[in-house]
Amino acid sequence: MNTSTDSTAKPNARVNLLGMNRQEMEAFFVSLGEKPFRASQILKWLHQQHIADFSQMTNVSKAMQLRLAELACIEAPEVAVDQLSVDGTRKWALRLHDGNVIETVFIPEDDRGTLCISSQVGCALDCSFCSTARQGFSRNLTVDEILAQIWLAGKLLKEEGRSGRNITNLVLMGMGEPMLNYENVVRAIDIFLDDFAYGLSKRRVTVSTAGVIPAMDRLADRHDVQLAISLHAVNDELRNELVPLNKKYPLKDLLAACHRFMEKQPARARITIEYVMLDGVNDNLKDAQALIKLLNGLSVMVNLIPFNPFPGSGYKTSSSDAVKRFQTKLHDAGITTVIRKKRGDDIDAACGQLVGKITDRSRRTEKFITPRFGMRL
Ligand code: SAH
Repeated sequence: MNTSTDSTAKPNARVNLLGMNRQEMEAFFVSLGEKPFRASQILKWLHQQHIADFSQMTNVSKAMQLRLAELACIEAPEVAVDQLSVDGTRKWALRLHDGNVIETVFIPEDDRGTLCISSQVGCALDCSFCSTARQGFSRNLTVDEILAQIWLAGKLLKEEGRSGRNITNLVLMGMGEPMLNYENVVRAIDIFLDDFAYGLSKRRVTVSTAGVIPAMDRLADRHDVQLAISLHAVNDELRNELVPLNKKYPLKDLLAACHRFMEKQPARARITIEYVMLDGVNDNLKDAQALIKLLNGLSVMVNLIPFNPFPGSGYKTSSSDAVKRFQTKLHDAGITTVIRKKRGDDIDAACGQLVGKITDRSRRTEKFITPRFGMRL
């Protein structure tokens, strides 16, 4: 079977099984006159054994193997760059069939392994402190391109002799805004959660959004995964500047959407609030006080992210004293607050440092405010 290492290869007419959830895979087998249970067999070979060659799927008849090879394929992008940080963080740059490059990061810790995956090529949101934003936006990732990231990471880690349990947590915090690629992201989540595929726990799959409200509302009805909100500012004036999406979905509406989301979650669930710490911009104790007020009545965990600098950003990282003072203030108000550890910044793998490579820049200046996004949701 072909795992496509040829970057110039065009997508072929065969259907890529990598991006099919159970329902779609069952429908596929039924259309071939097969029993639906074939789907769970193939899902296991594919996602648990990382087998891309139909002839190795021993519980599938020879005739069926040949038929599958004719009609279907299992194709993942080529690993263009593979980097290992001194702290063990791993970054892969994956070249897609059209030449675009996306990035995926694996962060091993004592008690877990977190895979940070991308949902779009570039990003249209233009957050002022994020280097992905500088790249502009090219396109949404397809379901198989989203899936290929966990598939390849799992396969490579396994081949290196690590156990398959390496990836325990998955965060959609790489390049792109997952909630502007809603359909493909929720179908990918189906596969992350499926016991016949990755079997990840709902609490260990996190969707991070800058606050695309209509998609947050839809997600609440589809999957009760962990939601993280990139808040970063406590008033609209500053948030409009840091996260321009705020002009479309201002703080008051965003907080109301968070409350709606939580109403549909189990009683003990918490929403994660991400707050990047920018020196002299949003790290004052008055900001902490306003944040406490804003989050009142919402079950949250706050994640303070020390700003990861990049050339020409114009921002500075808050001092560790400022970050600790901010944390203590929130903590004293009864809000669980953690400081996100910086991982992999020697290989530019930290939050906001993923840039990939965009070949098609024609949509570079396109902004979220265009009706196209409104219509997509
Ligand atoms: N678009 C999504 C997910 C991608 S970014 C979102 O906005 O949530 C994942 C997190 O990293 C977000 O909270 C983002 O605001 C933050 N981030 C972006 N650039 C950063 C930087 N330079 N330093 C620290 N955090 C950054």
